[in-house]
Amino acid sequence: MVFETVKKNLEERGFLVSVFSTAAEAAAYMDKSIDGKTVGFGGSLTLQELGIYEMLERHNTMFWHAVAPPETKEEVRKAELSTQVFCTSANGLSEDGQILNIDGIGNRVAASLFGHEKVYFVIGRNKLAPTYEEALWRARNIAAPKNAMRLGKKTPCAVKGDRCYNCKSPDRICQSFVTLWGPSMGMETEVILVDQDLGL
Ligand code: SF4
Repeated sequence: MVFETVKKNLEERGFLVSVFSTAAEAAAYMDKSIDGKTVGFGGSLTLQELGIYEMLERHNTMFWHAVAPPETKEEVRKAELSTQVFCTSANGLSEDGQILNIDGIGNRVAASLFGHEKVYFVIGRNKLAPTYEEALWRARNIAAPKNAMRLGKKTPCAVKGDRCYNCKSPDRICQSFVTLWGPSMGMETEVILVDQDLGL
């Protein structure tokens, strides 16, 4: 995978960009860069696959609802909104540098927009699409159905696993959609591109 074009386009939009061949290299970079901070994590299989939570918790104060007990998850989601650093991934990235995310509860997309000194998006090569329309198609028809299956939702996409049915199910996980055209003003935003398939 050649990241030159998307890197250049992301940088022209104002994002910082780092490129790594492997998830291990990306994790080592983040571990070195984030120190002594409060750090929030959005729901992300990519971050899980990086194993970065376990690395950062040794020298940062972490907030991640995924590892919190059920009775504190809501409180932790709120705390994630105002940490110094927030880490997440994306459901799609277009070659012209637009970052797409679908959310159900909304905490992940909300936290990616405001409230931190710095936000990191860790994005594997499988999320990259040639055009915005294809990145949107991927987010809706690949990432969201797979997430619905993973979460055991009773939605048509989770049953069939083939595409989005734009359902009206009470279990629908697609309630909000955010496209970042650029970093939010006043908040440093770094995209970490990894030349490996990561997440859904
Ligand atoms: S809108 Fe419904 S069918 Fe479509 S991906 Fe989301 S949960 Fe699945």
